[in-house]
Amino acid sequence: MGLKPPTERCNRLKTRDRLQKHGINAESYCLLCGTGTKSHSHIFFDCIYSRKCRERISQWIDMGVQIQTLKGVVRLARKITSRFKRRIFSVCVLAVIYQIWKARNNVLWHQHLWCIDNIVKKNQFDVKHRVNAIGLRKITGVDRDWFGGLEVQM
Ligand SMILES: [Zn+2]
Repeated sequence: MGLKPPTERCNRLKTRDRLQKHGINAESYCLLCGTGTKSHSHIFFDCIYSRKCRERISQWIDMGVQIQTLKGVVRLARKITSRFKRRIFSVCVLAVIYQIWKARNNVLWHQHLWCIDNIVKKNQFDVKHRVNAIGLRKITGVDRDWFGGLEVQM
């Protein structure tokens, strides 16, 4: 994730100190599920919270593929025959990773865990909004109908 700017690092230390005062050791466990480790591999792939988010997004796009490990993502993307759907799959992978990271940071900064429904809605909204903003030119009618049929939960 790279080195954070000094101010953010200082704030993070302060937040961790605050958490420690409340008896929470942010260094020792995952902020999303309360178990496991805080490694990036756990947060994005092994964590039960993260897994549920990925399952829900995988069901939403309904391509018959599950977003699992990073290696798996590359392999799975090759199985998707439509170029447009492959791109949407990649957008979903990035969107869900981004939302999981934001959710983890929200616990760290504000001590509040978003419910999985909210993460799924944010992901759906982000994907639909970004792709619609780019435009749906040069895609087949089948892909256009499929994408149009992806509904954002309310
Ligand atoms: Zn976890």
